[in-house]
Amino acid sequence: MPVFSCEYCGGKIEFEPRMAGESTNCPHCQELILLEIPKPPPPQEFLHVGLVSGKEIKIAAVQLYSEEKIIAVQEKRRRIENLSGGVSTGLSPWGSVGWVLEASAALGVIEGILSAAPDAAAKQLLRELPQDYRAIEESADYFNVNNLAGREYPTPSAWSAEKRTRPYIHNGSPFLKYKDETGVAAILRIDSIIHYRTENKSMNGSTLNQ
Ligand SMILES: [Zn+2]
Repeated sequence: MPVFSCEYCGGKIEFEPRMAGESTNCPHCQELILLEIPKPPPPQEFLHVGLVSGKEIKIAAVQLYSEEKIIAVQEKRRRIENLSGGVSTGLSPWGSVGWVLEASAALGVIEGILSAAPDAAAKQLLRELPQDYRAIEESADYFNVNNLAGREYPTPSAWSAEKRTRPYIHNGSPFLKYKDETGVAAILRIDSIIHYRTENKSMNGSTLNQ
């Protein structure tokens, strides 16, 4: 017999399949509800990843970060670069780093260029950056591969997902944090990936042959 959760109180209601589509009062909270046969959840999709080491991984979820917090850091970086007359001055080490790295990597770079920054306003913005990087780190969350847009591409920079309608993206670091098919969290170097395929491609032979 189908078991249905009341949309008002969450109470479980069992009903005969022939009753599906009928309205009734919830036996728990008395609200008027429509009896529906619940749809089974879609099967878990995986990213099938092969590494240089020969290891094969099935990725069920990937860690992404708030795009808004990443953009805030990018904009502050741009202001620092403008104030300092561009990255070719004392800020050259800054330009050699990926546009956003993990906080631990970024903090060392900030420390290194703080003394070289020629402008007081730029120095002030540089001092604010560690907190902004920490805000990116704190926004980190795992997203199920099923909900990952752009997963047909083997590059995390092409991926995005949503949490409460807010966009989440990869932070641009050389690493990917993920959970495998058993739910265990781990980390890989993105440039160690030598082959990559999604669930859809493995289910659809004609796609592979294209
Ligand atoms: Zn109810």
